[in-house]
Amino acid sequence: MLTLAGIAKRFGGIEALTGIDLAVPAGSLLGLIGPNGSGKTTLLNVVSGFTAPDAGEVRIGATEVTGWPPHRIARLGVGRTLQHPRVFSRLTVLDNIRGDSRLSAGEAEALLDRFGLSAQRGRLGDELTIGELRRLDLARAVARDPRLLLLDEPAGGLTPSETSAMADLLSREVLPGRTGILIEHKMDLIAALCPCVVVLDFGRRIAEGAPSEVLRRPEVVEAYFGTEGADA
Ligand code: ADP
Ligand code: MG
Repeated sequence: MLTLAGIAKRFGGIEALTGIDLAVPAGSLLGLIGPNGSGKTTLLNVVSGFTAPDAGEVRIGATEVTGWPPHRIARLGVGRTLQHPRVFSRLTVLDNIRGDSRLSAGEAEALLDRFGLSAQRGRLGDELTIGELRRLDLARAVARDPRLLLLDEPAGGLTPSETSAMADLLSREVLPGRTGILIEHKMDLIAALCPCVVVLDFGRRIAEGAPSEVLRRPEVVEAYFGTEGADA
């Protein structure tokens, strides 16, 4: 469903991505992890067209989309959520959903209900908690029924109970029938939802495999905690 070959991206002196190869089979969710600054968000930006890679190829299904603008890639059926969700702060939750996705009032209400936001329908964007903001961002992404979904830290900043509610929401309402990439620091969520995980460190792919096995590898422990942690 998604194939990346040799993706490279440099920002000035920083090599954010260096020749990344990646394949996500249809119907599966790939976990993408790595320390802050390792290139995870940049990789999603390349897939969704927000960042043009310096080198490499992005393929969605059989279509090569490298260098396409975001709206064209979105129209192929690609949805995403943001690490720092943005909503219209002076519009209500209902109008945020309706305006962004051109839904009827009935469709918007049904969507809010599925994402646990019915009680917040009249609240303004800037009155929402981070948990509500992330659910709204997710509902917006799902409104267009994307076949490929790119999730950037959907549990970032959430409390433990909000995190487990997010896990339920993802596995119940969001993931069935879809292909995706999930960036997350909360490894319980990765382990629960992703059969396979790829680890980035300084823009390089340093490991790939089942979460339970990959998270124990010395090079992965070292990437997260530094050399001292790996030796302990
Ligand atoms: P992650 O999501 O893994 O935390 P990012 O993809 O956000 O990492 O960033 C990877 C590296 O690229 C970091 O060093 C970051 O500072 C840099 N970077 C990302 N976006 C930009 C940009 N627009 N301009 C300059 N540097 C950037
Ligand atoms: Mg990021």
